[in-house]
Amino acid sequence: MFKIQDYIRDIQNFPKPGIVYKDITPLLQDPVAARKTTDALLETLGDVKVDKVVGIESRGFFFATLLAERLNAGFIPIRKPGKLPYETFSESYSLEYGEDVLEIHCDAIKPGEKVLLHDDVLATGGTAEAACKLIEKMGGEIVQCNFLMDLDFLKGKEKLKKYKVASLLTV
Ligand code: IMP
Repeated sequence: MFKIQDYIRDIQNFPKPGIVYKDITPLLQDPVAARKTTDALLETLGDVKVDKVVGIESRGFFFATLLAERLNAGFIPIRKPGKLPYETFSESYSLEYGEDVLEIHCDAIKPGEKVLLHDDVLATGGTAEAACKLIEKMGGEIVQCNFLMDLDFLKGKEKLKKYKVASLLTV
């Protein structure tokens, strides 16, 4: 039986000492595992209309693109500052030390469009919350936020209480 956790490995002390990094590259290396993961994400969504799938830089891009193709929806990247070439809207959010910013192309989402947000890992929820704010500022309606993994002890879901949230794996 397919178990997503068999394709995610823990890397100790990456990118900094004390951090256990969840590496999803084994999942991407295996086409059957990647397809089953996409199927499982679609199952959590149910029969909901989606116009755009938004993926968060950079590991959110992989499955957001696969989901968009399967849903016959557009794929939209949300990126770190200065990476998107066209005009952007931006949203800043707090980190443990300091601040970060996310950007989206200003023509990426039309008012009233149904949006699925995807990222690989939900940790403190700050990144996904900022992404949701960007989508809503543009008039998008978030139908679900889905993740491969929820690092539950960091309580990211609390920041996303307003939304339907699904994760394939809770750590
Ligand atoms: P948050 O804003 O604290 O929820 O962090 C989520 C962001 O950090 C996502 O874009 C993830 O890709 C990234 N992230 C946090 N922890 C990990 C990890 O263990 N492995 C891979 N990415 C992570």
